[in-house]
Amino acid sequence: MLTKEALIIKLKESKDVAVLTGAGISAESGVPTFRGKDGLWRQYRAEELATPQAFAANPKLVWEWYDWRRSIIHPLSPNAAHLTIAKLEKYYDKFTVITQNVDGLHAKAGSKNIIELHGNIWKVQCIVEGNVMENYEVPLKEIPPKCKCNALLRPYIVWFGEPLHPYTFENAVAAVESAQILLVIGTSAIVQPAASLPIIAKEYNKIVVEINIDDTPLTPIVDLSIKGKAAEVIPSLFFWLPT
Ligand code: NAD
Repeated sequence: MLTKEALIIKLKESKDVAVLTGAGISAESGVPTFRGKDGLWRQYRAEELATPQAFAANPKLVWEWYDWRRSIIHPLSPNAAHLTIAKLEKYYDKFTVITQNVDGLHAKAGSKNIIELHGNIWKVQCIVEGNVMENYEVPLKEIPPKCKCNALLRPYIVWFGEPLHPYTFENAVAAVESAQILLVIGTSAIVQPAASLPIIAKEYNKIVVEINIDDTPLTPIVDLSIKGKAAEVIPSLFFWLPT
């Protein structure tokens, strides 16, 4: 079993590192996780609203939920975990952020090489033309919002039951295959196919480290499981970074 001290030495020596992040990394910035105590909106669970079926049945309801989530996320700032991760791009020859989060906080922290597995809450897509646009309007003037062509816009988000956007998973697998170390931060590791990335990393004999406040299905298979809040643990792993 790897110790935290041995991990820090390996983190210093490595050239290629990847992180896989989930809702837990943004929890201390104030973004509610889906499965945490603030995960409910009105009486709905996320799994009931973040689906193509829910959008087809009631786009107004789904957009009201996204409008609420966007209004929560809009004023929030990246925390010490996002900010430390953003600095790592300069330290390593190759560093990839693979995120399940849609909140845009890695980009706000300054990370550039980001693979957004599940899309981005600040982007919308025309359901007819397929074009993707940035949209930071909070609150939305019109719900549901419409494209110039008058068709509905949808959140540019991968919903439960949908495939990932083209090439995102392939790019994430390539990043995991080349990295020497994968840090898995604040994810319940149950949403597929993201949850398979640490398994793939293990198959390639990579060092896989989990940072989470709780156990997950990954805990028994990782090289090291560090229990704690991402915003405290991540800076403690990289205290040695040049400023
Ligand atoms: P999840 O809600 O299923 O799990 C969150 C995980 O983070 C849990 O394992 C929890 O123990 C852990 N956690 C909570 N607070 C933490 C902290 N301070 N430090 C470290 N760990 C902490 O989230 P998920 O695994 O990302 O999967 C759910 C799906 O929800 C994803 O597809 C994602 O797209 C979406 N989602 C995104 C956001 C966001 O963009 N911030 C928020 C909610 C849900």
